[in-house]
Amino acid sequence: MPVEQNFIAGEWQSGASEIENRNPSDTSDIIGLFAQANSTQLDAAVAGARPAQQAWAATGIEKRYDVLMAIGTELMGRSAELGELLSREEGKPRAEGVGEVYRAGQFFTYYAAECLRQIGDRVTSTRPGIEVLVDREPVGVVAVISPWNFPTATAAWKIAPALAFGNAVVWKPANLTPASAVELTKIITKQDIPAGLFNLVMGSGGSIGQALVESPGIDAISFTGSVPVGKGIAASAIGNLTKLQMEMGSKNALAVMEDGDIDLAVTLALGGAFGGSGQKCTASSRLVVHADVHDEFTDKLVAGAKAMKVGHALEEGTQIGPVVSEGQLQANLDNVALGTSEGATLLCGGERLARPTEGYYMSPAVFADTTNAMQINREELFAPVTSVIKVGDYDEALAVVNDTNFGLTSGIVTRDLARATHFRRNARTGCVMVNLPTAGTDYHVPFGGRGDSSYGPREQGGYAAEFYTTVKTAYIAAGTPK
Ligand code: NDP
Repeated sequence: MPVEQNFIAGEWQSGASEIENRNPSDTSDIIGLFAQANSTQLDAAVAGARPAQQAWAATGIEKRYDVLMAIGTELMGRSAELGELLSREEGKPRAEGVGEVYRAGQFFTYYAAECLRQIGDRVTSTRPGIEVLVDREPVGVVAVISPWNFPTATAAWKIAPALAFGNAVVWKPANLTPASAVELTKIITKQDIPAGLFNLVMGSGGSIGQALVESPGIDAISFTGSVPVGKGIAASAIGNLTKLQMEMGSKNALAVMEDGDIDLAVTLALGGAFGGSGQKCTASSRLVVHADVHDEFTDKLVAGAKAMKVGHALEEGTQIGPVVSEGQLQANLDNVALGTSEGATLLCGGERLARPTEGYYMSPAVFADTTNAMQINREELFAPVTSVIKVGDYDEALAVVNDTNFGLTSGIVTRDLARATHFRRNARTGCVMVNLPTAGTDYHVPFGGRGDSSYGPREQGGYAAEFYTTVKTAYIAAGTPK
């Protein structure tokens, strides 16, 4: 089996070692072998990125538009093929894999258009005879560190704005999903771009990832992943005063009110809690339910969870694929045991499942009789596990929703406009959903959270300019005409 290589300073290069990538739906299926970059290669990638970035920044915006549009168009056109590969290595059902690749393409075409909208400000000076111009310039060389749960989309929503705003990229993808990373790299690097502008360095987070964030040649770091790793990256970044943007998990709550459409609430909860096997930073892991509808909602939720088909990601009809790895499955089973030991009632699921192929299958779990103080309701589980928390009224529901260290998304199911409006204004999260799932966002508007969920400027939409550019204020005195 050939070893897929890293892309460094304009060339495909083999690494110091390699890893094997296996299908979580069928561990006998080896997807490929992937080179692991060493520190010399990382240094070469960072060094080569600097001149390439300067050349790219000097390139006209129409050229940048063409490059991003071509990347996006190819991703969308090949979403069936690349989505299947993504599902094969990550484990999400095929439709979700295909949808993710298509969405990744949309990030590139959106930011292609953004290349043409690089508009500054002209400001009247407080001093007569002076003009003030405020322009955005590229931040420089950007390190992109992405997770396995959305291997192509997360990378795309970082790489596309980085390139659109004139930056170079050194990308370290998650080692659990290298095949999707190599395919995206092939699409990007076959474009007519300066050698060194885009680099792929595969390797473990603890080795090559850590070396990347400590590199003095990096101007900005965009990271998505866990809180502990994020805190470590922040400590490294501050040593070099490197600009930083991080998105790290959450403990999202969906509030179900007694005046809401309960069948809709059940549908939203099932999709939000178990889509992508619950491995989403926007997953609905806390269901905060009014006592008047608690029993009806919970009964329907459990019936729905039991009816969901868990199976091979590429099998027709699969609604929940395997979780990503043996380690993640074991952690999930441990968290189910933790919930029971904390006094929660496990209404269904939470067990390892056998399927015709050997994989990391787990039945979707619903806990009832939980309190918001329980550890299963405090920490991100990243699993097909959700908890029902019973509340007496709307005020209590809002208080529970907000009682968390995180703050990425929240949702409410209600028919009451006043409540929906109050919730929208008072939920302490970066995104608020009314009669919609906590997971699922658009690509042209900002995405991010509060508390431990996010750090630094927002991602996505026009707001991404805050991170991927630096502002220059120019003062110009016309002087006296000759
Ligand atoms: P991590 O935070 O460990 O990994 C995210 C990315 O960071 C990966 O590319 C990883 O590389 C890399 N990384 C790890 N350590 C370092 C380091 N010291 N310096 C630089 N980069 C590093 O998350 P996991 O993927 O292991 O998932 C663990 C938990 O994190 C999940 O259970 C979930 O709670 C949360 N998470 C949240 C996500 C979100 O969308 N907010 C996404 C993914 C995870 P590698 O994987 O190759 O080691």
